[in-house]
Amino acid sequence: MRKEKYEVVVVGAGPAGSVAAKTAAERGAEVLLIERNAEIGTPVKCAEGVSKELERFVEVDRKWVCAGVSGITTYGPNGTKFVLTGEGTAEAGYVLDRRLFDRFLAQQAADAGAEVRVRTQACGLVREAGVGTSEGGAGTVKGVYARSTEAGRSAEAGEGEGVRISADVVVAADGVESRVGRWAGIETRLRPSEVATCAEFLICGIEFNRDYCELFFGDEIAPKGYAWVFPKGGDCANVGVGIGGDVSGEKHRAFDYLRAFVRERFPDGAGKVVAEICGAVPLSGPLRETTADGLVLVGDAARHVNPFTGGGILYAIQAGEIAGEVVAKAVREKNFSKRRLREYEKRWRKEFGRVLWVGLKMKNVVLGLSSQELARFFQALDGEVRMKEYSERAFMREVIKRNSRFLYSLARFLI
Ligand SMILES: Cc1cc2nc3c(=O)[nH]c(=O)nc-3n(C[C@H](O)[C@H](O)[C@H](O)COP(=O)(O)OP(=O)(O)OC[C@H]3O[C@@H](n4cnc5c(N)ncnc54)[C@H](O)[C@@H]3O)c2cc1C
Repeated sequence: MRKEKYEVVVVGAGPAGSVAAKTAAERGAEVLLIERNAEIGTPVKCAEGVSKELERFVEVDRKWVCAGVSGITTYGPNGTKFVLTGEGTAEAGYVLDRRLFDRFLAQQAADAGAEVRVRTQACGLVREAGVGTSEGGAGTVKGVYARSTEAGRSAEAGEGEGVRISADVVVAADGVESRVGRWAGIETRLRPSEVATCAEFLICGIEFNRDYCELFFGDEIAPKGYAWVFPKGGDCANVGVGIGGDVSGEKHRAFDYLRAFVRERFPDGAGKVVAEICGAVPLSGPLRETTADGLVLVGDAARHVNPFTGGGILYAIQAGEIAGEVVAKAVREKNFSKRRLREYEKRWRKEFGRVLWVGLKMKNVVLGLSSQELARFFQALDGEVRMKEYSERAFMREVIKRNSRFLYSLARFLI
């Protein structure tokens, strides 16, 4: 088996991994970013919507923006309509081209000095018993075993070349299916009720509101979830459905709901499906532990997704940035213990931990409402709101304000 050595190895080149790699490389760390797929950003598993908050982290390039939107419109089960618009700006958010966006972020990592390697899948952890462990455990993580494959070969099937990549720190950015955390003994399992299973078509040649991202609620449309129509530029839109993993079953899968939604919403059959995707969103709220000796977990791998909205892109970027800063410091100080890396955990919790926590509580309250209560919930949202700055936090704050009857205990956390 070939052997290699880096200071930091990042597993997974989604937004979390690429931003972590870029940030650590910019601060002088020797970084390898590995991605199992042949092309970064492909296959896309996302509705691609983000608020303008993105600009806090990345300079927006129109090359990877498909559409700017004025806000978000939410339709309740009884047809109530809640419109949120950013004040004084035509654009409150964007619908991205994730294929290009993810590649752009990986390119930035490469420009900062990280080595980027595709078709390379992590398949195990290098461990060293007792090395620098701050709290005992099964030993410090000291890198990954990986397989690099050629076209048409599968690392899963044990094909390709095995490589032992030693590293002082591993950043696990391997998405919702993350295995790296589990290999390190961190509890990452998701119950079916903690996952949304999603199906989406990119449909062209349809009529829809090109200025807003639209969300549709109702048990018949998407039990324990919602359907969406996000403008992708021109007459194309991402049309998708996410349902609770625990209600998915034979003839009741996300694709079944999606087909029904499309038939109902675009009945003339004029639209052409030009792409089809499926994927899962972790809705458990963040992991209790996102660090171990020699390891940090970021993005979907750490369950950094808002359980109320299903949005994860911005949290992945923020977590990646914090992780990159902390691991670069750890490299400089030659201290890779869990205790040292906990700075990462403290900082992401301070930055966005509360929003994710409130999102989880809101999701649980809403899923526990009877259909009459749910109707009242959406009734209270009916109307239009202009807000200074549109963000997920602002959206949640408005929902809580208008529904203090159901969410009163949460008001003090976000308002
Ligand atoms: C249908 C759907 C719609 C969504 N819509 C939105 C939305 O509109 N807005 C929003 O904010 N969020 C949305 N999300 C969530 C968002 O896509 C994720 O939160 C975000 O992509 C997380 O980024 P990440 O870098 O953590 O993980 P990912 O983007 O999943 O990247 C993980 C990467 O790791 C790679 N990888 C995995 N295992 C290995 C391994 N062993 N070795 C090497 N590489 C590996 C994968 O191939 C992948 O490239 C949606 C998700 C889904 C499924």
